[in-house]
Amino acid sequence: LNRRLPVGKARDEISRLAETFNAMLANLEESFRKIRQFSGDASHELRTPLTILKGETEVALRWAKHPDEFRKMLESSMEEIDRMGRIIEDLLTLAKSEAGTRSLVIKPFSLSDLLQGVYLQANTLGEAKKIKTYLNLEVTEEIRLMGDELRLRQVFLNLIANAVNYTPEGGQVEITLAVVDGEAKVTVSDSGIGIPAEHLPHIFDRFYRVDKARNREDGGTGLGLAIVKSLAEAHGGRVEVASTPGEGTSFTVFLPAQGPEEWLANNNSLA
Ligand code: ADP
Repeated sequence: LNRRLPVGKARDEISRLAETFNAMLANLEESFRKIRQFSGDASHELRTPLTILKGETEVALRWAKHPDEFRKMLESSMEEIDRMGRIIEDLLTLAKSEAGTRSLVIKPFSLSDLLQGVYLQANTLGEAKKIKTYLNLEVTEEIRLMGDELRLRQVFLNLIANAVNYTPEGGQVEITLAVVDGEAKVTVSDSGIGIPAEHLPHIFDRFYRVDKARNREDGGTGLGLAIVKSLAEAHGGRVEVASTPGEGTSFTVFLPAQGPEEWLANNNSLA
């Protein structure tokens, strides 16, 4: 892939073709680089809990005598197994989402109802840290969209789990639904630690974390936001973030607010 076509001096068709071809090669190379990086990162993320698991089992086999000691080791092993399970689950979700619309179960559903349900879960998640949660429906009528309801629920739950995770005790998390220019706009904002500007361009990358050490304790996989972005895009939408360190963060998911007929018209080849 390192070969490039020579681009002649003359601005003729062949030169333009060579330029286009070279640009396509560069794109392909970048894609391959990303895939290699991803496989490397995924292996690393799975190897860490596996190494801990192996170490603990070896220690237990060699030194533990008392049932209490075995129990402690097994409990700790269980945590690592759960961690690996979460990573694998997230990797599968991501792979399905990247496969595009075909892997989604697209049906009409009520976004308003979905957010009511998600809001109740946000309450529960926030309880332990005394985080106040709010649901703001700026539209009085029910918003119905075409999409994979279960997957979209996951999008909002990932954002809410992060909001709660990265907000200190007594803070607040707010979910807002609005419709702007034919798009449904769901914002999850928190009064948490925020994200420094230099990290913002990377947070949707797989396994990217602002604070690597903190993440292991929180149990996050580093794939949550990659899943959010991929699923929003698979629905023809997008996600934006705004943050001020020390004040809070807000993520906004935009989804095309189209009915079944419009959806079919726009996705004819995929339906
Ligand atoms: P993780 O499992 O680490 O939460 P994510 O992909 O969900 O993985 O998020 C990537 C990183 O973005 C997190 O590690 C964290 O540093 C940052 N982040 C995500 N959401 C927030 C938020 N609401 N407030 C502050 N930082 C956040």
